[in-house]
Amino acid sequence: MKLTFLGAAGEVTGSCLRVEADDVRFLVDCGMFQGGRDAGARNRRAYARELGRVDFVLLTHAHIDHCGLLPRFAWPRHGAGLPAIYCTKPTADLVPVMLADSAFVQSRGAARRGGRRATAEAPPLYTADDVRRLATRLAAMPYGIEFRPHPQVAVRLHNAGHIVGAACAEIRLFDGGRRRTLLASGDLGEDSALLVRDRDPPPPCDVLVVESTYGDRNHRTLADTEAELVEVLHDVLQQRRGNVIVPAFALGRAQEFLVLLYRLAMAGRIHVPLVFVDSPLALQAAEVTFAHLDAIDEEAAAFHRAARDRRLPFTLRYTESVEDSMFLNSIRSGALIIAASGMCEAGRVRHHLRHNLPRRECAVLFTGFQAAGTLGRRIVDGARAVPLFGEQVAVNASVHTLGGLSAHAGQDSLMDWLRAVPRRPRAVFINHGEPLAAHTLSARLAKELKWSPTIAEPDAEYEA
Ligand SMILES: [Zn+2]
Repeated sequence: MKLTFLGAAGEVTGSCLRVEADDVRFLVDCGMFQGGRDAGARNRRAYARELGRVDFVLLTHAHIDHCGLLPRFAWPRHGAGLPAIYCTKPTADLVPVMLADSAFVQSRGAARRGGRRATAEAPPLYTADDVRRLATRLAAMPYGIEFRPHPQVAVRLHNAGHIVGAACAEIRLFDGGRRRTLLASGDLGEDSALLVRDRDPPPPCDVLVVESTYGDRNHRTLADTEAELVEVLHDVLQQRRGNVIVPAFALGRAQEFLVLLYRLAMAGRIHVPLVFVDSPLALQAAEVTFAHLDAIDEEAAAFHRAARDRRLPFTLRYTESVEDSMFLNSIRSGALIIAASGMCEAGRVRHHLRHNLPRRECAVLFTGFQAAGTLGRRIVDGARAVPLFGEQVAVNASVHTLGGLSAHAGQDSLMDWLRAVPRRPRAVFINHGEPLAAHTLSARLAKELKWSPTIAEPDAEYEA
């Protein structure tokens, strides 16, 4: 079979793998590039790229860096031949929500981002209408049950433990007349994750594609993470009397952080007067997530019941309107504000950063990976001032990174999953990681499992 990594090679965004074998051609994921000055241009190039025939798409999960360019298949030029997009039910519910938000963000243009005037050159890639057309092509499949997206291909989706609905794809196909199995990991989660059920063990495969976001490091333990969060919240909310800004992905991280707050508040370890989730998308994501109780963790279900019955140990408000969001700017202390985007590249979090970054009594608390080139990465890397809305905003607030809350497996956890692959694959490809992460994971695989992985290069074609 031939594999082409159209994105997420040497980086963590833009996931898109093209697979060709005998008479079939399909994609695994079709995501957006995020972060860096040229992300917009790269997305436009990727979106306009001629992919040739695509028989179907397998979608591992609903994060925008995995599904964000799918509306390309809503284009009229594809005519009646729109490929079906196979994914789990939670993913099928989430994708229209995520893409509609993406279309909305694009429709407001790039001009608002950092004051750069780019609207004229950067029309939206797609509109809400495109998203609606695309959504009709989503086909929901349960975990663990084999289905046939093509006469020559059988697929089973396995829980990846990453966000609700996230899947690894086990793909059986005919290649040169022989039966072969390709396993695409998608994004893998940590087993200690609070929001979703623990991931399934990997099935046997001939060819393996594995992510490597945290291939070079481990996360702090949940206990250490909790201790750190307790300390930061006490210091900022009770001692310094400021606010805590938590940039978080609207899907996954925002909900998981709430579950963590619930757990700590129930144990009497934190006192948080006001929690705001300033993201209409996070509210929609929460509604879908908690509608799939079979896919989420016990503790997350307990949080959901408490929120539904108004028994939470803190005041939780979702702000939807722009007015409500702007009102938050007037709150000087005692508020914990969760807002998207997770890497501070867009969204309401940028307003909260503008108002709170210059204040010494406040804190910014990062909860996830900050890709190279993003505003979040600059703040984490210790920038003294950052550009926001056309001005330089001083960074006087304290900056913290909660190490143990990632939706991605750390290095040891990736190795555990890889060790559990029942027999040695004939070929292993590492993608979805920055170069150091991919190389470090590759070195561990070579040393401990005697595998010889290939680190995927952008746009390179591999015979496997
Ligand atoms: Zn993801």
